[in-house]
This record gives sequence, structure tokens and C-alpha cells, in this order.
Amino acid sequence: MSHSESHSESHSENPKSAYDFWERLYVPALIKGMAITTRHFLRNLWSERDDNTEVLERKTQSLMATVEYPEQRVPYPTGYRGKHRLVPREDGKPRCVACYMCATACPSQCIYIEAGEYAPSDTNTASRVIEKYPTVFMVDVLRCIVCGLCVEACPKDALRMDTSVHTSPELERKAFLYAKERLLAGEPTQHPNDPWRHRKSSDEPLHAHKEAHTRIGEDP
Ligand code: SF4
Ligand code: SF4
Repeated sequence: MSHSESHSESHSENPKSAYDFWERLYVPALIKGMAITTRHFLRNLWSERDDNTEVLERKTQSLMATVEYPEQRVPYPTGYRGKHRLVPREDGKPRCVACYMCATACPSQCIYIEAGEYAPSDTNTASRVIEKYPTVFMVDVLRCIVCGLCVEACPKDALRMDTSVHTSPELERKAFLYAKERLLAGEPTQHPNDPWRHRKSSDEPLHAHKEAHTRIGEDP
């Protein structure tokens, strides 16, 4: 057996022998760490603040690097996926037509929807031409993995994650179930192809059903 082989074998048997005496003592490394901490502490205590919140664009490393949150906030990047919101129409009702596509696409199964129909007596033109709306729309934000697939799946631009805010801390588990009333927020939005902009309302709502509904397990 060569000298080098026996040397490497002795290292693998006793890893501590790879370090010299001062390294095994740990005290110099401890003092070095304390010196770095003290230097940062004094710099943050006495030096000027760099107002640039973009860390990579800071002028010099000698300036204080902390951000005075919440007065000063680091801007979120474009496309940041924040809290969900249900986009309202001009009349304040949700654009959502309860099609379930977001709930179907959601890999965490954290969207719960119950669909209802606008009543034939509803005089709101927009409501009468789009038929369905969510009576219940709930997002369990603790289960949400913030993937944005629900937003991509929505055919009505009714669900967005453009709020630029995090999920707020809560004291109870059930407070993380965001209901429709809490989700409905932000600027009203309309698009040229919104059906209520080019379809007229009629005396008899277009969606009036001629047949009785039956559910599975119920007699017709
Ligand atoms: S962001 Fe992803 S996980 Fe969260 S509700 Fe939407 S689809 Fe589900
Ligand atoms: S938010 Fe969009 S995808 Fe989800 S049910 Fe409503 S219309 Fe359909």
C-alpha cells in the first residue's frame, strides 16, 4: 500500500484529522463570525441608508441594506401572483358565470363553487343574458399552491391574482376560506365580447328553462 493510499484511508476513518489544530478549536471561526456580525450591526446603526430596494442595483455595499418595512416596500415583479380576486362587472356583480373550469383545473382542489341561475324576474340586462352565477365561490387559500392555473383556465376573465398582496395572517383556520364577498374586489372590468354588451334582454329571459330540473336520485 502506497503512502498516499494509507493517508486517505486514515482521513476517511477519522474526518477530524482533515482539519488542523486551529480549525478544530473553533474559537478563531467564532471570533471571525462575531466580527462580521458586529461590522454589519455598526454599519446599520451609523451609515446612510440606500433607498434602492433592488438589492442588485444598490450603489455601494457600504450603505445600509435593510428595507424599512412597512413604510418602505420592495415592489413585486410584474406577473407576481398575489391573493385571488373575483373581478366585478360594471354593475358590481361578479363576471363569473359558474362554469367550474377554475375548480376543475385546480390541482389542489381548493376552489368550491355552487352555481345558481339569475331569476327570470331579474331586471338587470347583464344578469338575464348570462344565465348562471356563483351563489357560493370559495377559495381555501391555505391549500392553494399559488400556481395560477385557475386564472389561466377562466374563460371570462373573472378570476385574477393581480392584487399584489400576500395572504394575510389569520388566527383561525376557517378565516383562510375566502368567500365570494371577500374575493369580489378591484376595478370593474368589461370586454368588447361580453355577451351582455351585444345581446339584448327580452321579456322572457333567454335562459328560461322549459323543462323541470331533476337531480340524480330524485324522481322527475
Ligand atoms: S392558484 Fe393554483 S392551487 Fe391556487 S386556487 Fe388557483 S389553481 Fe388552485
Ligand atoms: S371564475 Fe372563471 S373559470 Fe371559475 S367558475 Fe367563474 S367563470 Fe368559470
